[in-house]
Amino acid sequence: MITQLAQREILCKSALNKTGIPSFDYCMNPYGGCTHACIYCYASFMCRFTGHKEKWGEFLDVKVNMPDVLAKQLSGRRMQPEGKVLLGSVTDAYQPAEARYQITRSILNVLVGYPQLEVHILTKSDLVQRDLPLLRQLRACEVGFTITTMDQNITRWLEPGASPPQLRLAVAGQLIKSDIPVWIFIAPLLPGLTDTEESLTTLFHTLHATGIREIRLDYLNPYPAVTQRLKNAYRRYFPKALPALEEYLRRPGSYRDETAFLLRQLQNSKFQNIQRT
Ligand code: SF4
Repeated sequence: MITQLAQREILCKSALNKTGIPSFDYCMNPYGGCTHACIYCYASFMCRFTGHKEKWGEFLDVKVNMPDVLAKQLSGRRMQPEGKVLLGSVTDAYQPAEARYQITRSILNVLVGYPQLEVHILTKSDLVQRDLPLLRQLRACEVGFTITTMDQNITRWLEPGASPPQLRLAVAGQLIKSDIPVWIFIAPLLPGLTDTEESLTTLFHTLHATGIREIRLDYLNPYPAVTQRLKNAYRRYFPKALPALEEYLRRPGSYRDETAFLLRQLQNSKFQNIQRT
């Protein structure tokens, strides 16, 4: 649980930045840090660059001038960007502070005037629903919701600051009804917790019932800092699942083969697209 938050307003020099993330041309991160505080978050490596000493999830830099910087960048003669923009590559653009600061909302307002940019959002928040009218004005946009499991007994420890999965999915359904392309990111698959047949069967059926037709999946990447945090959380909250995590870390290849078999069984023609990233 987040016990304290060191929050400050900062000024950024650049809004739209080129990215090496496959499938995207640019990324934008309206916040530094992320109060969703997911235990498995890979973005926590950003602390190395920003100098934050606080734990991941316990600090937040609010880039209050980002919409103005973006408008200047896009209207300048030197930059004529086109392609895909990922809004939130090392933060969640719709984390709770966005309700007050509305930076993501202001960014979308700017992007509406630049139809050569496709907007891609990946979030764990139902707050994105607030901006539905703006999303509809964009020439091209899609929204991905990360959902690892429907079990709130697990998500409240794994993703303590994020919206409950039921709320994310309810908003996903609303966006679909409004003709916004939506996909679900099941990532990372967590051994013994979110990868069980029961958990995945419930999730797949719930997604299908909501109208989801595109799913992307990713396995756990065993970055040392992440696996240490996960091991601590498993020991504390899910001790019975710890052997499954340790087995995965010892034999990731075999685990992936076995899980792929289960996923093939769950996959059916109702899902148009199931990709492993
Ligand atoms: S929502 Fe994304 S960026 Fe934020 S803590 Fe979770 S994994 Fe990290």
